[in-house]
Amino acid sequence: MDKLYEGKSKIVYEGTEPGTCIIKYKDTATAGNGVKKEDLPGKGLLNAKISNLIFDYLAKNGVKTHLIEVLDETSVLVKKADIVMVEVIVRNVAAGSFSKKYGVPEGTKLLNTVTEFSLKSDELGDPMINDCQITALGVATQAELDELKAVSLKVDQLMSELFLKCGIKLIDFKLEFGRVDGELLLCDEISPDSCRLWDAETDEKLDKDRFRRDLGNVLDGYRDVLARLEQAI
Ligand code: UDP
Repeated sequence: MDKLYEGKSKIVYEGTEPGTCIIKYKDTATAGNGVKKEDLPGKGLLNAKISNLIFDYLAKNGVKTHLIEVLDETSVLVKKADIVMVEVIVRNVAAGSFSKKYGVPEGTKLLNTVTEFSLKSDELGDPMINDCQITALGVATQAELDELKAVSLKVDQLMSELFLKCGIKLIDFKLEFGRVDGELLLCDEISPDSCRLWDAETDEKLDKDRFRRDLGNVLDGYRDVLARLEQAI
């Protein structure tokens, strides 16, 4: 298979049909823009399964995604998209960089859902960027940004409902989108690597913060999320 790109946690290959790619999930965990790096055997499989379940659920609820077919336990066939070079971050509860930047204790419920954009650039450390700056740089149009925000809020509603059924609070998450034939599709993955997920009763962290903050038993959290999702869906 022709490798198109190797990222921190996934490899992208040319697909079998024109206009497709194969994404393979790796076991590597990274944080702090790749400064902290470790191999966690089994992570790729867990993230692939969790992400596929969520993408399926979102598609059934009217969200357009890049996913065509699950190929095996760590690989999916997807539509080849022109990736929009911004990440959309959605926050329901203060945590992580938001808490640090604005001096708000982690766990503070936000009065409204927050959407933010970061420029996708490892070199620059994914800096936060606003609508005006994005359109000025020609990274996306205002119409695209409006749609990205609307779809991201819909994803937030759908995922919050799903996770609540699992006894999990959806604190925040990151989404990526791509253009295919003039349409915006949800791309990349949705997993404990890209979401903050806290147990609804105990606030125990079940996500990548276990790795980022050296809390231990990283994959036990991911396994717990998968088991609960499989029961709820
Ligand atoms: N996130 C991500 N990739 C990134 C940055 C953030 O998946 O490059 C996710 C992260 O897991 C969290 C949410 O986006 O669920 C918000 O992250 P935040 O801005 O608080 O950054 P962090 O504290 O992770 O540096």
